[in-house]
Amino acid sequence: MGIDIQDTEIIQGDGVASESESTELSPTEAVNKFFHQAADMIGLEDEVRAVLTTSYREVQVQVPTYVGDHLTVFQGYRVQHNGARGPYKGGIRFHPDADLDEVRALASLMTWKTALLKLPFGGAKGGIRVDPSLLTDRELQSMTRRFIGSISHVLGAYRDIPAPDMNTNPQVMAWIMDAYSSKNGYTPAIVTGKPIEFGGAPGRDAATGRGVVYILEEACKHFNMNLGDQKVVIQGFGNVGTWAADELMKHGATVVGISDIKGGIYNPKGIDVAKAIELVRERRSVTELEDVEFVSNEDLLTLPCDILIPAALGEVITTKNAHDIKAKIVAEGANHPVTPGGDKILEERGIQVLPDILCNGGGVTGSYFEWTQNIQQFTWKEEQFNRELKDRLVQAFQETVESTERHDTCLRLGAFALSIDRVAKAAKMRGYI
Ligand code: NAD
Repeated sequence: MGIDIQDTEIIQGDGVASESESTELSPTEAVNKFFHQAADMIGLEDEVRAVLTTSYREVQVQVPTYVGDHLTVFQGYRVQHNGARGPYKGGIRFHPDADLDEVRALASLMTWKTALLKLPFGGAKGGIRVDPSLLTDRELQSMTRRFIGSISHVLGAYRDIPAPDMNTNPQVMAWIMDAYSSKNGYTPAIVTGKPIEFGGAPGRDAATGRGVVYILEEACKHFNMNLGDQKVVIQGFGNVGTWAADELMKHGATVVGISDIKGGIYNPKGIDVAKAIELVRERRSVTELEDVEFVSNEDLLTLPCDILIPAALGEVITTKNAHDIKAKIVAEGANHPVTPGGDKILEERGIQVLPDILCNGGGVTGSYFEWTQNIQQFTWKEEQFNRELKDRLVQAFQETVESTERHDTCLRLGAFALSIDRVAKAAKMRGYI
């Protein structure tokens, strides 16, 4: 049954935060807060919670790398949160703010995401605390190989399979594949998001962004909205942002605001998305586009629009700005873009949040297809890949809505309740608990 939010009055904020910022939590505390709220709804036992709110394994390694003539020691992390439902799975990010707590939180989100999408994987995440824009390609390659060499004992095609995340791409995945294969023999299934030339799946690169739009299509039907009539703002114009914008154009939606690390641009009549994508492919900034108004990344989030897609960093919607969001739907392309305090305000204001574990689940679903191809030495055509991707995301959306209605809650907690139940059952059956 559809819910009409087209005419729902979004309660306008006065810009005053109702909850002190001092109550904002670390990323792990925040994800576990959502976890406990959903766990309460399904009556989850304390001992199961104790296992599911902590990681199975956390590896922290030094990654000494020559940057120019200077040896710099970066910190690298791989966290395996839970493997009850299959091998650990999750991306690797290169970012100056990456730390153990953030990687731990993102690893646990992967557990809930793979369970929600019924993929035979557990959850993991990795990261190196580095600003990759300061390294040459040769230095990045050397750092990547060193990192993989240090964590390869916990990786494996049936143990833990990395993938791309912020500032990592098919080229980095190729280096990971090669570094692992040079020790263990040719193993394309060790990593997903690879170039097509050696086991990458046509469609994987676009899968996260496209998947965000497949979920939005379903959400719009559910909320009696027409996606083609909506004005959309996207924060972050990398892998997720560009492919989401590309897919939105096919649906006739109007992208009115976009941004990258250099800043944001706005045009209420619509941004030239094709030109913006061209700029990004040339490693240039969207702020070089003409006939636009320039806005900061902060102001971009509160622009007038119907749909807001955060597709860059985590924790960008908080108690500080949730009162000022104008969108009717927030589609979480990024992982953990909304803090629990921000989430509460959005819910009180009647803004629908499509949670990360559902909304950006196209990426890991595409990775699953790639992995199955690699272990079978088989390839799919892109149309088959996209059809299967859509089927699985639509099903996950419908199951999330059913869970949400059953528990009389929001979509995020409905999604968490469903996946926690699946992981808890698997963990009990395997004798983890
Ligand atoms: P990316 O590196 O390809 O792109 C990131 C974009 O964000 C770039 O445009 C960059 O300029 C911008 N950005 C960086 N710092 C910023 C800042 N401080 N303010 C505003 N913009 C900033 O990364 P991606 O792979 O598109 O990942 C984006 C988000 O999506 C992350 O949260 C990631 O965890 C999540 N995600 C990615 C995938 C995937 O398959 N790549 C899958 C699921 C979730």
